[in-house]
Amino acid sequence: DYEKECPADKEILGRATWTFLHTMAAYYPDKPSAMEQSTMKSLLTSFSQFYPCGHCAEHLREEMRVEPPKVESRKELSWWMCGMHNKVNEILGKDLFDCKKVDERWRDGPSDGRCD
Ligand code: FAD
Repeated sequence: DYEKECPADKEILGRATWTFLHTMAAYYPDKPSAMEQSTMKSLLTSFSQFYPCGHCAEHLREEMRVEPPKVESRKELSWWMCGMHNKVNEILGKDLFDCKKVDERWRDGPSDGRCD
């Protein structure tokens, strides 16, 4: 109900944002054009400037300096995004995600068909 809806906290915002970022990577082209690659790079740079959790954004910019976005293909971007998320997981003491499962989690769904 509308009246009970609260502004997003760090957790809600984080979950929604990772859903967006991993899903965007999962549907990025296998063979992006030079223009698509540079647009994705600037999207991620702008994103890390405006992400509305100050210290989260700062970490992200730091990590992106060490490990710049890989935008050459869908696989590379998905893998890179998984690595970024794992760095945050590590800082927060959460379990690391097995990046081999990133397509299953964010694009194909599990083989038992329960998400179809
Ligand atoms: P989330 O970490 O939000 O993950 C959601 C789902 O993604 C999981 O259930 C799992 O199925 C899947 N998943 C988990 N790891 C991976 C992976 N490596 N690759 C692919 N899929 C995966 N919070 C802070 O307190 N401090 C911070 O500095 C901070 N920085 C952040 C920076 C960014 C860019 C973002 C988007 C979020 C940040 N957050 C930060 C929020 C934090 O990452 C979590 O989103 C939040 O704590 C909620 O966690 P969760 O356990 O619900 O799962």
